[in-house]
Parts: sequence; structure tokens; C-alpha cells
Amino acid sequence: MAELELRELYKTYYKNRKPVEAVKNFSLTCKDGEFVALLGPSGCGKSTTLRMIAGLEVITAGQILIGGRVINNLPPKDRGVGLAFENYALYPPLTVYENIAFNLRARGVKQEEIDRQVKHIAEVLRIKDLLNTKPGALSGGQKQRVNIARAIVRRAEVLLLDEPLSHLDGKMRQQMRTEIKRLHIDFKNTTVLVTHDQLEAMALADRIAIMKDGLLQQYGTPLEVYNHPLNEFVAGFIGEPPMNLFTVNVEAGDGEKQFRFKETDIHFKVPDRYRELVREGQSYRLGIRPNDVKVVVGEGQYSLALKVAVFENLGEERRIMIRLNGSPMIIVMQERYRLAPGDIVHVYFDPERTHLFNLVDGTRIQ
Ligand code: ADP
Repeated sequence: MAELELRELYKTYYKNRKPVEAVKNFSLTCKDGEFVALLGPSGCGKSTTLRMIAGLEVITAGQILIGGRVINNLPPKDRGVGLAFENYALYPPLTVYENIAFNLRARGVKQEEIDRQVKHIAEVLRIKDLLNTKPGALSGGQKQRVNIARAIVRRAEVLLLDEPLSHLDGKMRQQMRTEIKRLHIDFKNTTVLVTHDQLEAMALADRIAIMKDGLLQQYGTPLEVYNHPLNEFVAGFIGEPPMNLFTVNVEAGDGEKQFRFKETDIHFKVPDRYRELVREGQSYRLGIRPNDVKVVVGEGQYSLALKVAVFENLGEERRIMIRLNGSPMIIVMQERYRLAPGDIVHVYFDPERTHLFNLVDGTRIQ
């Protein structure tokens, strides 16, 4: 296993002679044995980055190092990477067993050891029954699992997984997520996973690189990006349901600064931690996670009395949607209240658990 380092990586494609900057100034270190997820919406440059690491795409500028060695000009097979890509074909004439065994045979591993490894990985990934099948007869999800198995037994220095669970549904997806995590604990492969699914990234990765429009937005542990998003984009992308974001104006009232939700008369005292940072007359973006809002039914000491627009009972939890003059506020409730549209609830949130962003460029203020 080895450390992977990306240094100021760029990729420009040309579409009808017009440049498309798919990846811009992207730097990141994935430590030896670390599991990193590249996360972001479709088209943000995740797969392009992975393909550059794999050697399937020419790098426009920058460097890629594996184990301290620049690999920019090495062909894919000499880079020490194991790939599980969606369209990275299995060998059709070979059985699943032989597909998984292929790289081990090429390396001269003894048959007994090959047999042990192939059966072990097939067991973990639940494809044991398929070992004598040829790829043509497999479903998309089964092919994905064979691909993962093949990449893992290679014991490459860096394992690259591109949306490895995209063809699996519901329960199987969750099971495989757990198995991939377990395999990582066992094998400690330096791993880069591409996904657009933030839950997958949060569950699997030691660190997450969040991308938008080819640019790295934040690189941190799942807790860091959840608790301390560096900008409004990350704040809205991480978390399900996503963080509520509102425009608030700062006004003077009762001798102290007040936040007023834009175009409403709903206001509250600016929390102490922001008092020195905000200016009267200015607008900001205030973020509140749906789990950080508390609801009290009936009269209470809480200042925001709001009307329920939508109520959903999801069994484990309940979700309320409230409109603050057009901006939705989603609240996740564990309490077993049953509410209906039009009910008035009293809403309370801990100012310590809010997030404040610059209105213009979305950067975090605190
Ligand atoms: P993601 O994996 O995050 O969905 P991609 O890396 O596939 O994003 O794509 C990033 C950007 O590069 C997109 O705008 C996409 O249209 C463009 N792109 C990707 N591959 C090519 C290509 N072969 N030719 C031209 N543009 C491409």
C-alpha cells in the first residue's frame, strides 16, 4: 500500500473546440491505508480525477504521485492501481472465478493461495454462487461486485472505486457498503471512491473531498464537513435532509442586534458568537440543520410560532415543513406528535448549533 498525492491537477477537455475545464487546481493527499471519497454532484469532475489517477485520461497539468513517485507518464498497468469502474469490462470468456484470479495468476501466485483468496473474497461479497458463471449472464449489480472482488485481490497500492454500488438497490446497497468497509479494515488498501451519494461517502470514508465545478470545496473527515462546512455549498450538500439556509438581515432592536428572516417579521436576538462579526444593515445566510430544530406543540416560551405546511410521518422520525415567506424550513422530529397542515407549532433552535455564511460568496463566517 502507498500514499497517493495529487498536486495542482488540471484537466481541460475540448468539446466542439471549446475548452471544458473539468478539474482545476486540485490538490489532495490520501495517506497510506486511508479511504478517501470524492463527492459532488454529477459533472463536478470526480470521475475525470479518478481516470487521471488510473492513467485512463491524459493530465493537462499537475502531478500524481504514488508512494512518492511521479506516475504521470506511466501506463495504467504500471501504476500499481486496482480499478473497479463501472464500464471496466470483465473478460467475457472467463468465468467469474477466473476473472477474479486473473491478476493473481499473472503474478505467479500458487493455485492453493489463489483458491483461498478468490473463495474468501467471493464469500464476503456474496458472489460465491456465481464463481462458475460467465460475465454475460450477470446482472449489473453482480458485475459490480465481481469488479470490486477483482480489484481488491490484486492488492494494488491504490484501489480506485467509481460508483461501485450504483447498480444495487436498497438493502443490498447497505450490505455492500458494510462489506466494503469491512474489507478496508482487513486489507487496509489506500482507496479512492467516487460517489455522488453523501451517505455512502459519510459511511465509508476517513476523509471526504467535496467538489463543485472542478474545484475542491473542502477536504475533511465526515464529522468536520458535517459540523463545520466551509461554505454554503458544502453545508447544503452534506446532510439528509439538507441544511436549512435562510437570508437574514441584521437590525437594531431592543438595544441589541437582531436577525430578521428576510421579508418576514420573524426576528430573534443575534447569538453571542456572531455579535461582533455581523454589521447592522447587512444580510447574511444562516444555516440550521433539520435535526437541530426543536418543536414544541401548544404554548411555550419559544419565540417563533409557525404554521405547519407539510407533515410526514416516516415511522422512525417525523418531518415537518414550514414556510418562512417562501423559504422552506425542514424540521426532523423524534417526538411522536401527529400534526396536520395549518397547525401552529413553536419552534426553537440552539444558536450554538447554527452556521453563518457570507451572502455574496457563500464562505463561512463562523
Ligand atoms: P462527474 O464524475 O463528477 O460526474 P466528470 O468527471 O465525468 O464528472 O465530468 C466533468 C466535466 O467534464 C463535465 O462537464 C463533463 O461533461 C466533462 N467531460 C467528461 N468527460 C469528457 C470528455 N471525454 N469530453 C469532453 N468533456 C468531458
